Parts: sequence; structure tokens; C-alpha cells
Amino acid sequence: MTKDLHTLYQHGTLGLLVPGLFEGTQTVGELLQHGDTGIGTATGLDGEMVIVDGQPYLVRSDGSVNLLTHDVKVPFATVHFNDDQAESFMVENLTMEALGQKILAEHAYENVFFAVKVKGQFAQMHTRAVEGQKRPYPTLVEVAEKQALFDAENSRGTVVGYFAPEMFAGMAAPGYHLHYLDDTRQMGGHILDFKIAQAQVSLQVFENVIQHFPVNNQEFMNHKADVGGVNDQIQKAEK
Ligand SMILES: [Zn+2]
Repeated sequence: MTKDLHTLYQHGTLGLLVPGLFEGTQTVGELLQHGDTGIGTATGLDGEMVIVDGQPYLVRSDGSVNLLTHDVKVPFATVHFNDDQAESFMVENLTMEALGQKILAEHAYENVFFAVKVKGQFAQMHTRAVEGQKRPYPTLVEVAEKQALFDAENSRGTVVGYFAPEMFAGMAAPGYHLHYLDDTRQMGGHILDFKIAQAQVSLQVFENVIQHFPVNNQEFMNHKADVGGVNDQIQKAEK
């Protein structure tokens, strides 16, 4: 199989997690056929998923980091095949905010989806993991209010995630959405902030985006989406 390095694949939309559609609708095994790198969540929003080198890990709110079996279902995930030849550069002593600005200042990428991979040493890493929910599911903002926070210093690991153009807010979180996994596979999660000591940054721009919908899920199919305010709630829950 030739790996398509130019296509981003997403199952589910972030906008439909907002009202609480947290049921897993695609297996991790199916997801991995579309990429070896990516981010996502689990049924009931039971943690933060990060896929590195084809290995799907779930960081849960109790701080545990576990490899997921391929039969586990996810409600929302974004993946791609990592391009070893993607453009890359080294950075030192840089905050997350400064890195984000540097990328967009040096590249005309505001209108495209691209993957960001940062591999190296982090002076500080600040992450969160949301707590798994049972039915009836609350809203995404309610879940985010109960997130567990994690901090690490001098952590070696990999940041994986995406930039989504403002125009596609609702499908994904506009701007950067990044997850982390350390090299010892003991710490990670959805990134709130970091400071790079020294790391290699790789950027992979996508020509295509496949948006896959859970058409066999009746809850999704019958949901009347209240689109107004969705983006405000995404900002509130994800930043
Ligand atoms: Zn996340």
C-alpha cells in the first residue's frame, strides 16, 4: 500500500462533540488505515488520544497512559501518514505561542490544514485530560471544566497535532490543536502550553481533507445541530 502523504483524514466533527455526542463510532483499527499519526478522543470523552508511529495511546484523567486495542471505538479523531521528508527546522527556547506565530509568519499556511510535529526536549509541558463521562452525556464545555491538569519539566517527547483554518471552525478547532506523548509513554494529553528547550519541528501541508461521518449512528443522524455559539464553546473547551 502506498501511503498518501497529502491527505488529512478526520472521523466525526469537533462541533458535534459540543452538545455531547460522545459515542464511539469508528474503531481505532479502521482509523489506523488512514494514518499512523494523529489525535482524538475516546467514547464518553474518556481521555486524550495521541497516535505516534502507528501506536495509538490514550491519556486518561487519572494520569494513566495506555496503548489502545484496535477494537476500541472513537467519536472524533484526526489522522494522517507522517512524511519523513516533510520540511523541518530546529528551534530552541521557544514558547508554544511563539512557535505558532513563527510558523505562520514564515509560511503562507493560514488557509490550509497542516500537521505539526515537534520532537525533542521540552523545558515545560502543560497538558490536560478530560474525564470519561457516562450517559446522559453533558456538554463539551461542562466536561472541560472538570479536566485533570498535568505538568512536566525537562520532558522528552513528541507533540502531534494540526492547524485548521478559521474558515473550518466547527469541523475542527480553528488554529492549533496539539497533543503530547513523552518518550517514556508515561505523560501526555491535550496541550495547554509548553516551552521548548530544543526540538525539531516538522510541518506537513495537506492538499486534501477527508471528512468521514458516522452515518450508521442514529443519534448523530437525528441530531438537530444548534450551530450558533458552537465556535465559542469549542474555544472555551479546547484552549
Ligand atoms: Zn485535544
